[in-house]
Amino acid sequence: EVGAGERIEALLSDIPDIAYAGYGEGAVADYIPGLREVPPRQYGVAIACQDGTLYQAGEAGQQFSIQSISKLFTLALALRLAGEAVWARVGRDPCMRKFNSVSEVEANLGIPSNPFINAGALAITDLIVSHSSAPRRILQDLLRRLIDTDDIFSDPRIARGEAEVGHRNAALGYLLKDYGNLDNRVEDVLSVYYAHCAIAMSCLELAQSALFLACDGVSPITGQRIVSADQTREINAVLATCGMYNGAGEFAFKVGIPAKSGVGGGILAIVPQRMTICAWSPELDPHGNSVVGQRILQHLVKQIRASVY
Ligand code: GLU
Repeated sequence: EVGAGERIEALLSDIPDIAYAGYGEGAVADYIPGLREVPPRQYGVAIACQDGTLYQAGEAGQQFSIQSISKLFTLALALRLAGEAVWARVGRDPCMRKFNSVSEVEANLGIPSNPFINAGALAITDLIVSHSSAPRRILQDLLRRLIDTDDIFSDPRIARGEAEVGHRNAALGYLLKDYGNLDNRVEDVLSVYYAHCAIAMSCLELAQSALFLACDGVSPITGQRIVSADQTREINAVLATCGMYNGAGEFAFKVGIPAKSGVGGGILAIVPQRMTICAWSPELDPHGNSVVGQRILQHLVKQIRASVY
């Protein structure tokens, strides 16, 4: 495919203008101490292809707080550890309420709508705590293995800040516990959850570590199978319908690929059988999705005709 690479390089040269035009339209997440100090006007983008080729623009090597992007890897890990038992703990439907809604859990009698809202991720994290002897490290270790690096850490300052203000997450944990959808101590599950949200990674690292989702469950970097081909398809389906908070429909309409965003400003997107794309810029729209990140993805995906629809 001579020429495809040059085409992607050319598309990436459009990105600075897209970023500058979008600055100031969103706001940095300010409910987590530590996140609100991140300089807002910066961006990064990385593309990782199935054959290992990498493309990048902006601050693609700058690590940021992955926040809810961790929920994608938590789900993959739980499917590895517990298989289909995962789907007894969470549903697979979009949630009409906010990502940290308490009434959502109440309305669904303790079974969160999907694994990517906070309550769903807590139930999944509980499974991981039950199945692992080192649950605080297990995600970080998986991510390190996926891209063969030692340079991925959870930022204790961010995790501590989250715990200090995390009354709503604690409420979700206790409600799940009351419904019998949490086997471990609420405090233990919360602390593992925060450790995972506080992992810092760059666009390049995230794009590479998610390549297994573009490759039927096998990491092309290490050859390791992470999940089965069927589970890969299932994860991508839930990402497409639930990965972008309450903006998932709009994102499908405008961009059209499975993706997970986090309030740190990252969006990790999958083009099944082709590539992964990670875009990052800290200013968020009212749903919690990076404004510039969405625009970068919209541009790239449209030009390379990668929408799955
Ligand atoms: N750690 C964040 C929270 O629990 C995750 C938010 C997000 O990125 O959606 O609120």
